Amino acid sequence: MRFDPQNNLISSKGTLREVLEVLNASPIGIVFLVDELQRVNGIMTDGDVRRAILAGADLHDPAQNYMVQNFIFGKTSNPPGENLKLLNDTIRHLPVLDEEGRLARFISFTDFCWLPVMEPTLLGNEMAYVQDCIKTNWISSQGKYVGMFEESFASYHNIDYALTSSNGTTALHLALTALGIKTGDEVIVPDLTFAASANAVVHCGATPVFVDIDPHCWNIDPTKIDAAITARTKAIMPVHLYGHPCDMEPILEIARRYGLYVVEDCAEALGARYNGRLVGTLGDLGCFSFFSNKVITTGEGGMVITRTPELKEKILILRDHGMSRQRRYWHEMVGFNYRMTNLQAAIGLAQLEQIDMFLSKRKSLARAYSLKLKDLPGITLPPALPWAETVCWLYSILIDERQVGISRDDLIMALKREGIETRPFFYPLHLMPPFLGHNKDFPVSREVSGRGISFPSSYNLSTAEVERVAANLTKIINHSKSPAMIGSCK
Ligand SMILES: *Cc1c(COP(=O)(O)O)cnc(C)c1O
Repeated sequence: MRFDPQNNLISSKGTLREVLEVLNASPIGIVFLVDELQRVNGIMTDGDVRRAILAGADLHDPAQNYMVQNFIFGKTSNPPGENLKLLNDTIRHLPVLDEEGRLARFISFTDFCWLPVMEPTLLGNEMAYVQDCIKTNWISSQGKYVGMFEESFASYHNIDYALTSSNGTTALHLALTALGIKTGDEVIVPDLTFAASANAVVHCGATPVFVDIDPHCWNIDPTKIDAAITARTKAIMPVHLYGHPCDMEPILEIARRYGLYVVEDCAEALGARYNGRLVGTLGDLGCFSFFSNKVITTGEGGMVITRTPELKEKILILRDHGMSRQRRYWHEMVGFNYRMTNLQAAIGLAQLEQIDMFLSKRKSLARAYSLKLKDLPGITLPPALPWAETVCWLYSILIDERQVGISRDDLIMALKREGIETRPFFYPLHLMPPFLGHNKDFPVSREVSGRGISFPSSYNLSTAEVERVAANLTKIINHSKSPAMIGSCK
């Protein structure tokens, strides 16, 4: 519900009691005292009323005797942005008055300085290419940008085939279906990932079999895969979580030994490298997502890459209703409509043109975060294993609640009050309703899931904003480290 500051106006002839009544009913702690012409003469907060009463005031006393007259305000006549500049860490709310001195708006630090976990940056050729689609009438899934985006994605990965799809989940579903994964089969999936990884397996009629994660890189633990393999196992799906690659060599070795396919879920890791090789090019198929919060975006969108011509051919048919590529309206199999539109591909192509810039900026943001956070006690920085080049999709850390003196979830709330959005890690898959019934425990996944928190990580974040996040985190942690708080922690 949008707050209307006009509800917080009272006549300066009103009493302190009336001030308290308005404050009590309002989501914000400020009252504006106005004259007969509605001009703001002064303001009062809870604290001002408290001070008045401590100084001997009566609730029936006129508020104007105690109101603050020299308050800071913005003006509607100020040039754009001027009023925002008055907001800072101490002046967190600001009335904006019109020429007459009436209340026009009430602006808040957190409204304007809200840092989301992730937002897209669309400052390249996105607009020009989309306009081209509209001007030329090619807005559906035919049109030149689909092919151009696919070609440029394949060439970035130095791989034969890249095939767009409607989103990352359908990319995974296409990949698994093309491999012939079906009812009765099993696919090995890490216990800690976004549910779409496992959902895609279920959509094939197969069963995801979970494996615990490695505590150092938060990805599937290769040493625990063997034990999960059965006669029904058909594939392994390593997920490069939060942009850090899995330890692929042992995974590929296990796959070779048991004759299993490897489908990489690279939704969060476009541009990440394992021993110098781009993720997605190491297994049989690599799947990507272009949801708005991923490394590059098309709004919604996905991609499958592969070197195998038969798999490419199968995916082309599957994503287009199972229709023969030679004979129109002749359906060789039950397919899907998982096509990407020309509009999405136009955005994707423009985004991919900027990939090097996106990746190097992400790296420098991650470095700036780590520099600020590395000496804080109770904090584990994002993984950076020797064979890995991470893209730090979301800058993510683990916190030790005992050492930092505040629970992960309270920390998320406290940062939110400072205008900083963060998010907790995914829940372990085996604990959620669709995947219950695995009578195994995955202790590392449970622990990392409960301790993980991701910070604002947009490409357009400034170093000053990274410092603001780090400063607030430090402040909250230091403040919570009073003995009482630590004692009350579980
Ligand atoms: C985002 C994501 C997906 C799914 O991608 P969508 O485009 O949202 O369908 C799959 N796996 C992982 C690990 C993801 O982060």
